[in-house]
Amino acid sequence: MNGRALVVGGGIAGLSVARGLVRGGWEVDVRERLDGPPDIGGALAVWPGALKAFDRLGLGERVRERAVYSTDAALLRPDGRKLLGPRGRVGVHLVSRSVLLGILVGGLADGPVRWNTSATAADILPGEGFDVVIGADGIHSLVRRTVFPHASPPRALGSVAYRGTLPGPVERFTEAWGGGRLFGVTPLDAHNTNWYAALDQRLLTGNERAARDAGTHAEVLRREFGDWGGEVSRVLAGLEAHGVDRRALMDLPSFGPYVRRRHALLGDAAHAMAPNLGRGACESVVDAAVLADALNEEPTVARALSRYDRVRRGPTRRIVAASRLLNRISTTGLTGRPRRPRSGAAVTRPR
Ligand SMILES: Cc1cc2nc3c(=O)[nH]c(=O)nc-3n(C[C@H](O)[C@H](O)[C@H](O)COP(=O)(O)OP(=O)(O)OC[C@H]3O[C@@H](n4cnc5c(N)ncnc54)[C@H](O)[C@@H]3O)c2cc1C
Repeated sequence: MNGRALVVGGGIAGLSVARGLVRGGWEVDVRERLDGPPDIGGALAVWPGALKAFDRLGLGERVRERAVYSTDAALLRPDGRKLLGPRGRVGVHLVSRSVLLGILVGGLADGPVRWNTSATAADILPGEGFDVVIGADGIHSLVRRTVFPHASPPRALGSVAYRGTLPGPVERFTEAWGGGRLFGVTPLDAHNTNWYAALDQRLLTGNERAARDAGTHAEVLRREFGDWGGEVSRVLAGLEAHGVDRRALMDLPSFGPYVRRRHALLGDAAHAMAPNLGRGACESVVDAAVLADALNEEPTVARALSRYDRVRRGPTRRIVAASRLLNRISTTGLTGRPRRPRSGAAVTRPR
């Protein structure tokens, strides 16, 4: 089958499903409120299931060519000693988010994406002139709020994430845990390093929670991770020069089917999750390949959406739950209970 599809959101999920539909002969209208794809920087681990989905979208080779393939990974203690390592060599493709978005935009001919164009509830609900309306509009999805009004809003996880990149290569993919905090360092590409940190938000003062400047973020990171081993000290030395992104972490409670009438949700709009398993973007691409295949192959939209929901809802809800659990274990106390700092006081916590 083919027809006309409205895709709300031009992120990883929206661009991927648009690619799959255009290849199936659909006329696609992607509306993205920003003037380009939502590039928040850093690297993404592309796990095997997502790589297969890229293959189904005809983009797998381009992703492999531009990715760094890392086979050296370990979970560390704060002092840099190994806590756990995989048995044998486990490989993962790491690719910069901006490169991935570039591949997805390049995978669409001129035309399907209208940048700087917000979809409104009035476009979404009747979906006039469209056979299917796809909500790929992220964690605060307007499509979800409009078409699934019973769905609960995103919930705070109680932890905050910091991340950035800096020049200089690193070969190993490491993540260190301790005292309600974690710090990860991975390759961004052959010449640059990607890093991320997360911690229990009770470790921050009120001023630190409100701050938006890289200087305050850098102070927090040096206080919380200044005595950590491995690659952490090199990252901490370059914070101000190369920028720091910080955000409070949230995920999305279950709300039942991802589809209703001619509407479908995918990516973060359907199953935003804690980043601890590094699976949100990967699952968005798998959603997109499954939804596009179903719409291309089934005789009606109703059958296609029901197939999509049947295939994707169970696995993605399990990953949301597992990511939430890992977030709790790593950043909210089970690795040593964090103590809230009083202003001006040194922070003490067990190791
Ligand atoms: C700190 C952090 C680290 C992460 N690390 C990883 C990782 O290592 N690996 C991984 O796989 N995932 C990771 N993720 C998750 C990943 O970033 C998301 O799952 C992924 O970006 C979701 O893509 P999306 O297209 O569904 O949503 P988004 O990227 O949020 O895109 C939605 C788009 O919709 C647009 N939009 C919204 N409303 C409208 C409207 N009304 N009209 C038009 N456009 C609209 C927005 O502007 C946006 O561009 C991480 C997330 C966080 C927060």
